[in-house]
Amino acid sequence: MEYLGTGYFLNIDNRVYWLYILSALSIALYFIYKNPQYSYALSKKIWWHKSAKNDYLYFVMISFIKLAIILPLVTYLFSAKDVSLLVSLFLQDNFGYMQKVNYSREFVVVLYTLALFVFGDFSRYILHRLLHTVPLLWRLHQVHHSAEVLNPLTFYRVHPFENILFALRYALIFGLVTGSFIYIFGASIGIVEIAGANVFVFVFGVLGANLRHSHIPLRYGKFIEKIFISPSMHQLHHSTKYTNKNYGGILAIWDYMFNSLVHAKKDEIIEFGLKNKKVHSNVFNMLIEPLRR
Ligand SMILES: [Zn+2]
Ligand SMILES: [Zn+2]
Repeated sequence: MEYLGTGYFLNIDNRVYWLYILSALSIALYFIYKNPQYSYALSKKIWWHKSAKNDYLYFVMISFIKLAIILPLVTYLFSAKDVSLLVSLFLQDNFGYMQKVNYSREFVVVLYTLALFVFGDFSRYILHRLLHTVPLLWRLHQVHHSAEVLNPLTFYRVHPFENILFALRYALIFGLVTGSFIYIFGASIGIVEIAGANVFVFVFGVLGANLRHSHIPLRYGKFIEKIFISPSMHQLHHSTKYTNKNYGGILAIWDYMFNSLVHAKKDEIIEFGLKNKKVHSNVFNMLIEPLRR
């Protein structure tokens, strides 16, 4: 069963953890109650669209591919643990032994959690922007953008090669941050703190992360949207008009700093999908097409 992706709904670190789905649904219902014109977001036209059906099937297939192929491959190639060890050894060799200052454990844990979050989010921004600007990578990323309607499982509509790139990015950033912390503060960072690093995922999830892939254009207001990406902003990223805007993960500050931020206008009609109208007719096309000349 695990190979079919069911575990994703039960794991607190995953976007579609049942509690995150439930909170997104509650926010959506409240939003529709206030703005009845958006009730079509719950209609069969959206949820039973051909593109949505492809998302569901793709989710099952990709879950299997990830567990059976990608995870073992990435761990074999390049583990976050190896990178942290290499980084701390490199720093030791080049800058010598660092006299450990006695900071409180709580301080180190908070700083570590924050560093992992900020560098992680920034590296996501960079990789996502590259996926759009490097033609070879765009071929892979088109799979995500070919969705014509959005639902929470569209989040997993990602080519396995893109999954590999994101996994390598994670190992690299996790290793760099952890290795530096071990060098500066000593090896006191334990497994509890690593689990704690996901506190941001939890907060983000409960606040309706799943609405990013939905037809509920929830906005945060111009001020907050310079700091955090609202669901509406990611929906704009999926539109034909603003594909090259709003690359951010959780934080919007990178888009703001590097001029790729766009706010949603109230009641703007947006069309989802690719400019060239390319659609993937079935899940095998999604896998194979990006690899063809
Ligand atoms: Zn994109
Ligand atoms: Zn998306």
